[in-house]
Amino acid sequence: MLFTELGIDTRLAKQLAHQGITDATEVQERAVPVALAGHDVFAQSKTGSGKTLAFLLPAVQRVIKQRALSKRDPRVLIVTPTRELANQVYSQCRLLIAGHNLSVTKILGGENFNDQIKALHKDPHFVIGTPGRLADHLSHRSLHLQGLEMLIFDEADRMLDLGFKEQLDAINEAANHRLRQTLLFSATLDHAEVTATSRNLLKSPKSIMLSDAHEKH
Ligand code: ADP
Ligand code: MG
Repeated sequence: MLFTELGIDTRLAKQLAHQGITDATEVQERAVPVALAGHDVFAQSKTGSGKTLAFLLPAVQRVIKQRALSKRDPRVLIVTPTRELANQVYSQCRLLIAGHNLSVTKILGGENFNDQIKALHKDPHFVIGTPGRLADHLSHRSLHLQGLEMLIFDEADRMLDLGFKEQLDAINEAANHRLRQTLLFSATLDHAEVTATSRNLLKSPKSIMLSDAHEKH
């Protein structure tokens, strides 16, 4: 299916076409309309199936098209397990918001904390980060999630494998519970905690479970 048939704006679809991306993958086809409709989503599909756009497209479209629900940025927080994945999500996000006068900041471990405080102080619309450093900024009160509209957990299975449960809980607690929609993506369901965590983080989620749930990773 074409992205426009899933409810994606023509301009965003054109941006994807520039990247040679015209037809949605299965997880995108299933997740995009449900996320655009405002539901929480629990999606599992294998590595390489296109999960990044499955959550970025609804997030970017929401920020572009819908008036902010609060005066407090960021509107979207994306939590990813590693610096490498955060960089990939960041690059794709940059491409999608190009020309829209929107800002995105990366908050990664191993980088200068004070520089990150300055970047957060500019109130970016999107923040993409790794769990440990995001939790550090919450403790330090340099990251505020009271106005958050979308909280996205990318590769939740891997974040749990890496021992980030406590940090995910802290992020969940700090993020506005009334305004926010939550999307949780996982490559596998192997990790016993994935389902338990999803219950804790999501409200009446729509589940999207694709094959290869038990791939090795
Ligand atoms: P996952 O997060 O499920 O492992 P990614 O989102 O990283 O997968 O996507 C894997 C690769 O597929 C990336 O290079 C991405 O650009 C590409 N891709 C994503 N969606 C599409 C699509 N609809 N058509 C063609 N290529 C796509
Ligand atoms: Mg991914």
